[in-house]
Amino acid sequence: MGEKKKPEVSERRRFFTLMAQNIGLGAMGGLLWAGYADKAKSSPLTLRPPAALNEEEFVKTCIKCGLCSEACFNRPQNRDKNGKQRPATLKMAKAGDDVMIGTPYFIPREVPCYMCDDIPCVPACPTDALDITKVTNKKGELDPKLIDMGLAVVDPNACIAFWGIQCDACYRACPLMDDAIKLEYAKNERTGKHAFLRPVVNMYSCTGCGLCEKACVTEKAAIFVLPREYALGRPGDHYVKGWDKKDEARIQNKVNEDVTTHDERSSKKPVDYLNQGLEDF
Ligand code: SF4
Ligand code: SF4
Ligand code: SF4
Repeated sequence: MGEKKKPEVSERRRFFTLMAQNIGLGAMGGLLWAGYADKAKSSPLTLRPPAALNEEEFVKTCIKCGLCSEACFNRPQNRDKNGKQRPATLKMAKAGDDVMIGTPYFIPREVPCYMCDDIPCVPACPTDALDITKVTNKKGELDPKLIDMGLAVVDPNACIAFWGIQCDACYRACPLMDDAIKLEYAKNERTGKHAFLRPVVNMYSCTGCGLCEKACVTEKAAIFVLPREYALGRPGDHYVKGWDKKDEARIQNKVNEDVTTHDERSSKKPVDYLNQGLEDF
């Protein structure tokens, strides 16, 4: 794991980057920006680089300098043994992409994040839009296991392992094999005879690197990375894990909401059914 250090991004280079950016923006004028006004907001499913601030803060803080993408492109592993350059994981959004123009993002099915030991994209950021503290462990070292770009989700209808066909490509591609993805035995309901193995993602360990998505054998990936807020549900403050002290604290925020389905079938609210039978205990 690499040491926590800011890169030596020269002030001069940064100055010219900013100048170029400002001149570029000015020269483009209102016409272009008006034309792409609908693209000014990113798709909510955009995957950002490691250690990015939350989306709202990120788009305010990122100055679109491209230094993270440049660091990603220049990492030594991005050349094959013949010295041929491979594409970088991080792309800078251009007009027509469904991402705020000029901001960095990645598409795992095209190029996943390789979770570099020294995470060079993060210290390259001059504004802390990529917050180095998020990927720094207690020893003060950069730790790729702390990367948190999203969460891999398996579509059980499309994953052939759920059909009973042997496949573990995603599991083998995962840099945190047996931690972020495990294979779990399940009974084959179709044959009633054989057990089969299916991939299960651990939400606490998955970094959202997308190596599994890239490796998936199905035509459209049956495992794919989503931003965490979209991959995970939110149970709300009504439901508390009584056995978890930290979770109990959430009850302080409990709001009484009227949950109704607005139909005539029942005078009860949906939540009333959740408590059905409790009076018998
Ligand atoms: S950690 Fe991922 S995004 Fe950052 S430089 Fe390495 S491959 Fe690129
Ligand atoms: S995105 Fe996939 S490959 Fe990457 S850590 Fe998560 S489960 Fe593993
Ligand atoms: S690689 Fe794709 S099809 Fe194969 S087990 Fe993983 S998610 Fe399923």
